[in-house]
Amino acid sequence: MASFYKSSAHFKRPFRPITPNTMLFRLVFFLVLAILLYKLARFIWGRPKNSRPAPSQNGHVHDELVKDPVCGVYLPKGQAKPLFLNNRTFYFCSEECRQRFSLEEHGKNA
Ligand SMILES: [Zn+2]
Repeated sequence: MASFYKSSAHFKRPFRPITPNTMLFRLVFFLVLAILLYKLARFIWGRPKNSRPAPSQNGHVHDELVKDPVCGVYLPKGQAKPLFLNNRTFYFCSEECRQRFSLEEHGKNA
């Protein structure tokens, strides 16, 4: 360590000599500064993308979520398969669910 102090004497400035204490202080200061900058950068760029509604590219302006009454899955209205029944519109994730629903409705009515 003694040789390190002697070699660091080369970096002494006339107005503000750098002692090992100030070097340590600077090291800790820059370390804290780097951590703060890192956290700030993560806060700015690391936000979840779905916090704001993504502008739809394919013209689906009102792409609201609808629930499949058969399997309980939520999906965008544009992708859902609609079924008009008893003056109501039901939406399904697949043709399979739609057929199953219409079959069940027929069973109720019969
Ligand atoms: Zn389904």
